[in-house]
Amino acid sequence: MHDDTDHQISRIAVLGATGSIGTQTLDIIARRPDRYRASVLAAGSRVDALIELCRRHRPALAVIADTTQYQRLRQELEPLGIATAAGPEALADAVERPDVDMVVTATVGYSGLVPTIRAINAGKDIALANKETLVVAGEYITRLLRNSPSRIIPVDSEHSAIYQCLQGEDPDTVSRLIITASGGPFRSWSADRIATATAADALRHPNWSMGAKITIDSATMLNKAFEIIEARWLFDIDPQRITAVVHPQSVIHSMVEYVDGAIKAQLGVPDMRLPIAYALGYASRATNVSAGLTMAQMAQLTFEEPDTERFPCITLARKALAEGGNTACIINAANEIAVAAFLRGDIAFGHIYRAITDTLARVPFIAAPGFDDYVATNSEARAVAADIITHYKA
Ligand code: NDP
Ligand code: MG
Repeated sequence: MHDDTDHQISRIAVLGATGSIGTQTLDIIARRPDRYRASVLAAGSRVDALIELCRRHRPALAVIADTTQYQRLRQELEPLGIATAAGPEALADAVERPDVDMVVTATVGYSGLVPTIRAINAGKDIALANKETLVVAGEYITRLLRNSPSRIIPVDSEHSAIYQCLQGEDPDTVSRLIITASGGPFRSWSADRIATATAADALRHPNWSMGAKITIDSATMLNKAFEIIEARWLFDIDPQRITAVVHPQSVIHSMVEYVDGAIKAQLGVPDMRLPIAYALGYASRATNVSAGLTMAQMAQLTFEEPDTERFPCITLARKALAEGGNTACIINAANEIAVAAFLRGDIAFGHIYRAITDTLARVPFIAAPGFDDYVATNSEARAVAADIITHYKA
């Protein structure tokens, strides 16, 4: 290659560009035009937000998953010389393009699965925000990775922290991963009060500003269950060696304990641009990403056991990992339906856990699912959950 400048530039496909992680990713990209270029921007249905981002970041291709928004996308972007496409299939095709070196998976929920699989099969590197992909099909994805040059670098702050703590260490000397949890907005609420919490209550996260779905998952603490599952697959570790601890300050992003008893922790302000920049740089340090921690912010670091009575969703990690198969895929699908219903005001907060367990009881277990089984399980579990919740009284 003779073009040295271009050779240095990492060309990035941002899936979920209009979201919380997507826009913060684009911030990092825009600050370092010498290192990064956004070659593909993709979103779900908010076409105006996507058009606006394309005007600013000038990708080669813009994709909208919702095909009803395609005409508008094309009309606005064609004059700018930006190619356009629509539909989930076009979104998955985009990751295979030759002008994509890294894929940032920042769509919500099950929608991340197929593009991630396609990226792995095309040998692209992945900055993984969409943890649901590893929840739904962690074993399958891990198998694909063994036969691909692709690397997955975590964006999730806890997993980025663990990844950082593991640098320079022998994986065989790890005794425990300690995943920290903020405890969410209901950490100090009584069970009765939690049961009737509104969407507005649940959306008020104490430490992190994130998309609506993950904010609700943080309030139920299913997010922490998902992160235990995510860690099990990302770091190929026995689930018994993964624990979660509530750390309300969100200063320690997670820790790794070694066989000699030493514990390494990664600390920082709660700012997702830190793990995003670390992932985009293939686990390297960028300058001036975020403010450092002050001594005052580090003055009081406290820890509590997660309360499984008030937050039963956290117990679903152990169940999912013990059973394996399609169990976590069912949990994820039921949760997506229940969270959407809760946000619409159709069901109570306490119904989210109930919808998951009721759905688990009705969707058949598959011990060794293949790709088609995940697709079928996801559809069936969504249908079952949608039916079940119509019988709940909000
Ligand atoms: P947001 O809701 O803020 O953004 C979601 C993005 O995905 C939007 O661009 C949205 O498009 C797009 N999208 C939604 N549905 C689809 C679909 N079916 N097909 C294609 N695109 C779709 O979410 P977050 O940024 O908060 O979260 C993204 C992922 O990152 C989640 O998996 C979450 O768990 C994970 N994560 C997020 C963190 C955070 O701080 N936000 C922290 C750790 C992990 P549109 O705007 O058009 O709807
Ligand atoms: Mg996290």
